[in-house]
Amino acid sequence: MAGAGPAGAAAARMLAIFAPDLRVLMVAPVEKRPCRGEVLSPLAPPVLRHLGLWSAFLAQGFAPSHHTFTAWGEAGLRSSEMLLEARGPAWRVDRARFDDWFASAASSAATRIDAKVSDLERDADGWSVDCGDGGRHAARLVIDATGRANALVRRQGRRARSQDRLVAAYAEGTTSEQTAPELLVEAFDDGWWYTMSLGEGRHAFVCMTDADIARGLRLNKPHGWHAALTKTHFISAIARKISRLDAPRLVAAGGRFAAMPVGFRLLCVGDAASAFDPISGHGVAKAMRSGVFAAYAAGDCLVRNDGTALDHYGAWVAREAAAYEAALREHYVSESRWADRPFWRRRCSDVSSSSSPHQ
Ligand SMILES: Cc1cc2nc3c(=O)[nH]c(=O)nc-3n(C[C@H](O)[C@H](O)[C@H](O)COP(=O)(O)OP(=O)(O)OC[C@H]3O[C@@H](n4cnc5c(N)ncnc54)[C@H](O)[C@@H]3O)c2cc1C
Repeated sequence: MAGAGPAGAAAARMLAIFAPDLRVLMVAPVEKRPCRGEVLSPLAPPVLRHLGLWSAFLAQGFAPSHHTFTAWGEAGLRSSEMLLEARGPAWRVDRARFDDWFASAASSAATRIDAKVSDLERDADGWSVDCGDGGRHAARLVIDATGRANALVRRQGRRARSQDRLVAAYAEGTTSEQTAPELLVEAFDDGWWYTMSLGEGRHAFVCMTDADIARGLRLNKPHGWHAALTKTHFISAIARKISRLDAPRLVAAGGRFAAMPVGFRLLCVGDAASAFDPISGHGVAKAMRSGVFAAYAAGDCLVRNDGTALDHYGAWVAREAAAYEAALREHYVSESRWADRPFWRRRCSDVSSSSSPHQ
């Protein structure tokens, strides 16, 4: 297994439960990542329960989120009440802290190497994996849980299909004033923004647009980022209460899909299999769920000699990605105020166009 994000950790945990006789080697760098505020959708708790980690998650003290506010498709602000949502609330998490907790709670039965997979080769029994630690490790099956790096699939000379060139211009700020803690999403002429409280007076402000538009707006520079912020109504009202904002940083955020090599004992999970536009709000829950399904497929293949298990998993990933693409298009089409602007035109005319010229 390469990677210990939500997908890799969930796969390791499920393998320990479903196929305890298998030896799992988890190759993942222990790294200090910047905090990033994210919301776990109501789809996450059922997966955590399935993994036997729900009580341990609650003990972490992350805040439940009962509303999401959106200014999308109309000038006013609308509230989605998750109190009325049968699946329960969403959860606001500091991703660095969530990932550290989940990786250590979920992978206690695996052997972990603090390294990155730098190379892998097929051999008669499966794979020979190089972690840059001086030796090679033999594996009957490998799981690519390296997120958007897609490290194992790339080593096989394959590239994920990009759906768009979405980027996030992310900045955090501090306020001493009371501000609304909930997630707020607001569309504007060049994309959309979201903001959410990270607790202890910290707030995240994120502008989502395409890479070429971000370059034109100079979103990586404070003056360009602030100029784009002034185009919003509700997000800029919250930002005015912020006393100090960090410099913005750009992060890749586009949708992408990696077709898994058929006939190889190589599974992709989480963002390494398919990365969703963050507007979906399901990235982490989807990553954990795919880790669970991949663990079942790996166990069926290696322990029960089921030759079809890996293909069934690959077909499920492809079906999930197709359903997501249809839902994504529907969501973007519901915002028609700036239909002639490049960001919206690209999504509303053909959201699945992978060869769009905007680089
Ligand atoms: C701006 C933005 C906002 C988002 N907001 C949300 C949100 O609010 N809610 C939500 O649910 N989702 C959100 N997402 C999506 C979510 O972050 C991802 O879907 C999720 O992190 C995917 O988990 P993963 O385990 O597949 O990959 P990752 O979390 O990316 O983990 C991959 C791991 O692989 C490791 N790795 C990389 N290369 C190698 C290698 N060669 N060898 C070994 N290990 C390696 C990395 O160190 C990392 O730990 C957002 C994404 C973006 C970009």
